Amino acid sequence: MKGPNSEQLAFDSQHIWHPYSSMINPPSMFPVESAQGVRIRLSDGRELIDGMASWWSAVHGYNHPRLNAAAKGQIDAMSHVMFGGLTHTPAIELARKLVEMTPEPLQRVFIADSGSVSVEVALKMAIQYWHARGKPAKHRILSIRNGYHGDTFGAMSVCDPVNGMHELFSGVLAQQLFAPRPETAFDAPFDPADIAELEQQLAQHQDEIAALILEPVVQGAGGMRFYSPEWLRHARALCDQYDVLLIADEIATGFGRSGELFACNHAGISPDILCLGKALTGGYMTLAATLATAEIAHTISAGGAGCFMHGPTFMANPLACATALESLTLLEEMDWKAEVTRLEKGLKQGLEPARELASVNDVRVLGAIGVIERHEPVSLAEVQPMFVERGVWVRPFGKLIYVMPPYVMSDKDLGTLTAAMVDVVRALD
Ligand SMILES: *Cc1c(COP(=O)(O)O)cnc(C)c1O
Repeated sequence: MKGPNSEQLAFDSQHIWHPYSSMINPPSMFPVESAQGVRIRLSDGRELIDGMASWWSAVHGYNHPRLNAAAKGQIDAMSHVMFGGLTHTPAIELARKLVEMTPEPLQRVFIADSGSVSVEVALKMAIQYWHARGKPAKHRILSIRNGYHGDTFGAMSVCDPVNGMHELFSGVLAQQLFAPRPETAFDAPFDPADIAELEQQLAQHQDEIAALILEPVVQGAGGMRFYSPEWLRHARALCDQYDVLLIADEIATGFGRSGELFACNHAGISPDILCLGKALTGGYMTLAATLATAEIAHTISAGGAGCFMHGPTFMANPLACATALESLTLLEEMDWKAEVTRLEKGLKQGLEPARELASVNDVRVLGAIGVIERHEPVSLAEVQPMFVERGVWVRPFGKLIYVMPPYVMSDKDLGTLTAAMVDVVRALD
């Protein structure tokens, strides 16, 4: 199909919400015709090197022949059947692969429709678990400041209460508990004082806390911060000590992005509950998963309800499962670690010149994630066209100009991408 014409674009701006957009002052849109490999092709024929992988998801690039074939093959068998009372090979083989790839204790899989839903499911599991163990007072969630866990109500309640974009709803959200964010950087020596307040919260509120939820090692939309794996190891130990479940939200970090298959692997720990999403289908469609230990699943199932209380209409959609299975197979077949290490090196090299600019506060890279943090926020309306003029797709957020490219990006394209980032930041300096 051709890209949208001017009449369609006018309809778009009048009638369609885009993410976090206004209907009075609609943001200008770049019309897309198609996408191939690491390039997004606009309607006017311009091609943009994609630095965002469509928000962490398109790790293999766009229009991949293997993913296309998996989706088309599944369409010819069935696009969807309900998951209540029925089951199918794409769901079974995807779940088998997720159990194999993730840390050993995670043995039970709930297939969800989106990242936010997988977080809702994780919170519900934690609450149902303690209810089944006769401790219904343990129903609050402890979270970490600067976290981001999604846009639905349960997920919002554990996002950063101030900068989490959800302050407006604070009166109607469940009142959760918050500990300070980890201050120890990824490769800095760990200082036990950095986790003292988390421990204090656990000690003081253990009788009402069901779970600690966090993004392991990389805090994403809440600030693109990379913190010490040692901090995470301590958090795991504290959860055990105070009888609190650990929920790891690896929706952004899962499947190699941070340089390990899962960010928890940097610390050699396993959570009790794990949320996955974003890159799961290689960016083809929405799908997520919540994994839990056998003990949690058995306890919930032995509880008063006799079952886990969740079951969306499109649960385990076969089309999405078949595509996800092929995406994970591709990931296993390629040397993803070598590619992510190569991108890490290219990002470090390419972004380094930004460090000396007066407007730049920090430059940091971990795995295939590269960040330039400015002192002041940028105006999206001002900078978005500057990136497009330079032939790249980068979408800054506040003070952060960041990229997480598809793993298949060549060194040459990565060089163009990082040079454009430095150039735009310099032009604003
Ligand atoms: C994107 C994201 C979510 C929400 O996922 P959606 O698919 O947008 O609902 C939750 N947690 C983290 C860490 C994310 O990056």
